[in-house]
Amino acid sequence: MLRLPKFRYHEPRTIAEAVRLRADAGPDCSYVAGGTDLYPNMKRRQQTPATVISLHRIPELREIRGTPETGYTLGACVTLTAIAENPELRKMYPAVSHAAAVISTPLLRNMGTIGGNLLLDTRCNYYDQTFEWRKAIDFCMKRDGEICWVAPSSPRCWAVQSSDGVPVAVVLNAEVTLVGPNGERRIPAAALYRNDGIQFLTKAPEELLVAYHLPPAAGWRAVYRKLRRRESFDFPVLGVAAMVSTDTDGTVRAARVVLGAVASYPQDVPEASTILVGNRLDETTIGAVADAAYRPAKPMDNTDFTLSWRKEMVRVHVQRALMDLRISS
Ligand SMILES: Cc1cc2nc3c(=O)[nH]c(=O)nc-3n(C[C@H](O)[C@H](O)[C@H](O)COP(=O)(O)OP(=O)(O)OC[C@H]3O[C@@H](n4cnc5c(N)ncnc54)[C@H](O)[C@@H]3O)c2cc1C
Ligand code: SF4
Repeated sequence: MLRLPKFRYHEPRTIAEAVRLRADAGPDCSYVAGGTDLYPNMKRRQQTPATVISLHRIPELREIRGTPETGYTLGACVTLTAIAENPELRKMYPAVSHAAAVISTPLLRNMGTIGGNLLLDTRCNYYDQTFEWRKAIDFCMKRDGEICWVAPSSPRCWAVQSSDGVPVAVVLNAEVTLVGPNGERRIPAAALYRNDGIQFLTKAPEELLVAYHLPPAAGWRAVYRKLRRRESFDFPVLGVAAMVSTDTDGTVRAARVVLGAVASYPQDVPEASTILVGNRLDETTIGAVADAAYRPAKPMDNTDFTLSWRKEMVRVHVQRALMDLRISS
């Protein structure tokens, strides 16, 4: 049985108290929300914070506020189940509720939060293993070792951004509010991520993610498609989030396609907008976007399935995502 290491545990009642405790504890400290990512990682000694600050007693972080006209603000500790089952979100933001609904299992969705999902650690077959397993290969660059076993001559880690919520947040141009010792800032969700398996977040470790802001619901449609081995539960080996806004005659005014699980960050397909804007979602334009997404997608050999098949699936699933949007228009 894998056991948690010993750690100090705090349960602040306010955001200010949480941030103060985090600053006082120094670098060897983590926030925890649902704990469905952090605690397994601690059991495998991938993360070993001496102090853990729980967010579950801060009521403000569990609120859902807003309307379809103004957009919604979800507190960082709103659970995935609450998002998946909220009638308004299901109706007005189906991509958001669908992405939450296909994460892990019902029990984990009852515990797991949207904040934890947006900040999920990157994943790799050589890293998501027990301490003994990792020790047997002399560890790797992401924790305790020197080398990357996926690309041994590489100076960087290629662990994969594997959250289902992240590509959707980016494709919708959603925003997040962060609170740290130096105050509060609101940034686009896309600005949270960087293409590095170790330093995959731009946020400072002390900063608390307090809110996730969805834009007003009118004028656009979005979908999320997830590819995984088992439909019952599994991390994505590919996630495709696509968004379009169209005129009444079906001409595309704005579009965005974002890929998950093919890189250490949510990967934009910049050509999607160039190809689609001014055109309709017909087979030719959809095929051109699928080709544009296929070319730069470079999955590494550190998750399930073969590389070449996962790359090929980028084309297939981008095509299917855009077909979904065509059908729903
Ligand atoms: C078996 C299994 C299957 C899973 N399948 C999937 C899947 O298919 N798709 C998927 O996306 N995820 C999956 N997960 C991962 C996880 O359950 C979800 O991503 C979940 O949403 C994480 O939220 P949490 O609240 O439990 O995060 P936690 O474990 O509490 O936190 C995750 C990280 O975020 C930090 N953190 C959490 N909240 C905040 C905050 N408000 N401010 C600052 N830092 C914070 C923590 O310090 C930690 O580093 C799976 C997990 C397991 C164990
Ligand atoms: S990509 Fe390389 S460095 Fe990163 S976790 Fe995997 S083996 Fe380790």
